[in-house]
Amino acid sequence: MTSPVVISPSSAVPLLRLPDFATLSQQIRECGPNEVVAALGRERRTVSDLAALLSPAAETMLPDLARQAALITRQRFGRVIQLYAPLYLSSYCFNRCLYCGFSVDNEIPRRVLSLAEAEREAKILSRRGFEHILLVSGEAPAKLGVDYLEELARRLRDDFAAISIEVQPLKEEEYARLFAAGITAVAIYQETYDRRTYEEVHLGGPKADYDRRLEIPARVARAGMREVGLGALLGLADWRAEGLALGLHLAWLRKLAWRTGLTVSFPRLRPASGGFTPRVMVGEKNLSQLIFALRLFDPDVGLILSTREEQRYRDGMIGLGPTRYSAGSCTIPGGYGDSAADGEQFAIDDHRDLAEVAAAIRAKGHDPVRKDWDAIFQQR
Ligand code: SF4
Repeated sequence: MTSPVVISPSSAVPLLRLPDFATLSQQIRECGPNEVVAALGRERRTVSDLAALLSPAAETMLPDLARQAALITRQRFGRVIQLYAPLYLSSYCFNRCLYCGFSVDNEIPRRVLSLAEAEREAKILSRRGFEHILLVSGEAPAKLGVDYLEELARRLRDDFAAISIEVQPLKEEEYARLFAAGITAVAIYQETYDRRTYEEVHLGGPKADYDRRLEIPARVARAGMREVGLGALLGLADWRAEGLALGLHLAWLRKLAWRTGLTVSFPRLRPASGGFTPRVMVGEKNLSQLIFALRLFDPDVGLILSTREEQRYRDGMIGLGPTRYSAGSCTIPGGYGDSAADGEQFAIDDHRDLAEVAAAIRAKGHDPVRKDWDAIFQQR
């Protein structure tokens, strides 16, 4: 496979060029048991090894993948599982993403929290014991822009060890402003690396531009953020090819921004307003194979398993690859302080609070960690 990296001559901004999605699918399906065994036997794994580990041929060797994933996770991360909670700030969005409850076409109660309301919600999470929060909003810069995020981060940074965001794409200098205000990580998911599916499910708004979306993680890293989060929404296209594309994206970012921490999320489609039906089924066994394969390919990547997944599955995966869990989540702006609030982004499946998730992690012999960063490490 040729190098996926090209350099744009005009701006020196690197662009990721991925092979066609169908080519990735085919590469994976051509792998047989011999390639899987060879991939399992190697210490450092190539993109071809990742393809083998994602293949149907690897399914019969899932216990071997799990064992190695557990071993590598223990070597690189110890017994630590980080905990965080999302804080939804706004349900306004200008995009038309068919799979999302916040899509502009959906008739749901919309709300953007005032700074005071957002602070109140954050205080609730702080009192519940969270030290890491993820600020989430739909993509509607006119309703919630950089000034808002900057001010909110300044108000919250003494209460939280880590503040991440999952909002609309921003300019490099805007990410740098937010980093200075105390935000250290940005999640920006491609949703699907299949260009054709991407165009079919993103019907309008700035997010409909596949290439524009793909360039954001590199921009975040260049702005100096401590961590960038990648992700594919599972249920839109071939999950195996999504895994290989994620691996290519990770490897490319590692070369480009070796000091930036990388994480990957694996959200499986959940019921949401709009009633979108998954285009492909991704079972727990599939999700596990994807997690193990990426752990074997990139030993240092943080792997996130959210409350979209049910308690039984999340507990079963402790120690086998994931390094970060959400807990006590609500996907409605204002939903922590007001249990009657309406208009969620999607339904969650694990309703346990922080203490309950932490207890489950301890019961498996692992350490639930609420704090893995301190502002003292960060120049302001
Ligand atoms: S996925 Fe994000 S961008 Fe798309 S409609 Fe939902 S909130 Fe908006």
